[in-house]
Amino acid sequence: MSGSTPARDGSKRPDGSDYTTVLSEDQWQEKLTPDEYHVLRQAGTEPAFQGEFTDEKRSGSYSCRACSAELFTSDTKFDSRCGWPSFYEPLAKDSVVYLEDTSMGRTRTEVRCAACGGHLGHVFEGEGFETPTDLRYCINSISVNFDTP
Ligand SMILES: [Zn+2]
Repeated sequence: MSGSTPARDGSKRPDGSDYTTVLSEDQWQEKLTPDEYHVLRQAGTEPAFQGEFTDEKRSGSYSCRACSAELFTSDTKFDSRCGWPSFYEPLAKDSVVYLEDTSMGRTRTEVRCAACGGHLGHVFEGEGFETPTDLRYCINSISVNFDTP
């Protein structure tokens, strides 16, 4: 996690570089369902305990629903009972990017796909889960696709 405070302009990565997949908002709206668009492009949150992958326990990989970049694997998924799929680390350090999110009156760290900038969820640290990182990547099911090997 970085401690920087990047601009919240979604057109570029927090470090100022361009996303690999760049579409106009019209193109995203065409490609995604209204619910997917709301979460991925407008940083919405799906209702707790209703996402399709919250209790998914099979082995497989999770990729971005907007651009298909691989983001997480089942190896790092754990049962946090928080109502959303939870992972203790992304597939690779550069799979995701982080933005400071001060909405809702508190500071949280937003997690986005590093390839297209799609909103995935938030990451929380120091909650005491017995995982190797003590991080909880709280990810919307609707932001990802799940594939079994
Ligand atoms: Zn993506």
